[in-house]
Amino acid sequence: MRLHFRGVVLPGDEVRDLWVHDGVIGFEPIAEAETVHASGWIVPGLVDAHCHVGIKYGGGDEDRDGAIAQAEVERDAGALLLRDAGSPIDTRFIDDREDLPRIIRAGRHIARPRRYIRELGIELDDERDLPAIVAEQARRGDGWVKIVGDWIDRAVGDLRPLWNDAILKEAIDAAHREGARVTSHVFGEEALVGLLDAGIDCIEHGTGLTQDTIAMMAANGTALVPTLINIDTFPEIADGAGKFPVYAAHMRDLHRRSRETVALAREAGVPIYTGTDAGGSIPHGRIADEIVALTGAGFSAHDALGASSWNARSWLGHVGIEPGAPADFVVYQQDPRLDLAVLNTPSWVVLRGRVYDRRDPVTAYR
Ligand SMILES: [Zn+2]
Repeated sequence: MRLHFRGVVLPGDEVRDLWVHDGVIGFEPIAEAETVHASGWIVPGLVDAHCHVGIKYGGGDEDRDGAIAQAEVERDAGALLLRDAGSPIDTRFIDDREDLPRIIRAGRHIARPRRYIRELGIELDDERDLPAIVAEQARRGDGWVKIVGDWIDRAVGDLRPLWNDAILKEAIDAAHREGARVTSHVFGEEALVGLLDAGIDCIEHGTGLTQDTIAMMAANGTALVPTLINIDTFPEIADGAGKFPVYAAHMRDLHRRSRETVALAREAGVPIYTGTDAGGSIPHGRIADEIVALTGAGFSAHDALGASSWNARSWLGHVGIEPGAPADFVVYQQDPRLDLAVLNTPSWVVLRGRVYDRRDPVTAYR
């Protein structure tokens, strides 16, 4: 198939003709191309940088068909590049599917017994095993490893770090030696200093960030994936934590100041990207909601979209719309920056040059 699209290409704001052949974008006309769309807004494929393909909704391991269905929902929402931020199942078979989003894997979550969602991650009885397990997961993943940084400690009744600082430094060094970057689940304040001192590359959630830890992130170029639509479930988590009133109050407070925290991180220059935390308790296909949520933390619509598209792609080593780039983009009838609700109704999703007609959802055009 030879296909032609014309529209305003973001982020450059230029009207362009895109010619798609063999899954690749060209800027030069090609003969006998069929025009799919002649006027619209064309956005590099959206990125959900925290998207657990492989965790069943409600918890547990997803089966193969279920994982495929999750990935299809993401594709149809325009999320064409996913960083899985940990998955309990092997999703490598998805790489053979031309019709499913590209997945950047982070291996399995690494936690300790009773210190994370039960049976989701690898649970280390002895924390001294962390560096070796991190190295192993680094070899299994696609350049990322996920460590659970803090969780409720029921003996204390509040969020507490899972690891001592020296072990974290060894573990993060081990990942870096394998050529992998490390990210960590962190809700509270306390675990952040040790992780940032150890040279971590990214923080998930980061609700406990303070001026000091924000300054450390900015100085190190550490990325933040706040997952705001997941943070919005903190009040429910608190409601269900009756036996732990200190923890419940902590979670409510972290939620209450979450937009302000992200706004401070943005102003300090911390690179921030979209992640929905889909899988488990958040349904797939909600990338548009996370982009909208960023505008509640001081982002312009243009910058919120960039945090989910061109900027996030470049952070993860993927290009946007340029000659020779893979044809992964989304076409909208209106400018999504004037009304981000437009992101819920893409006209066309193009992945590896295959076109999905979203004007009539469920019908694939090719
Ligand atoms: Zn997650």
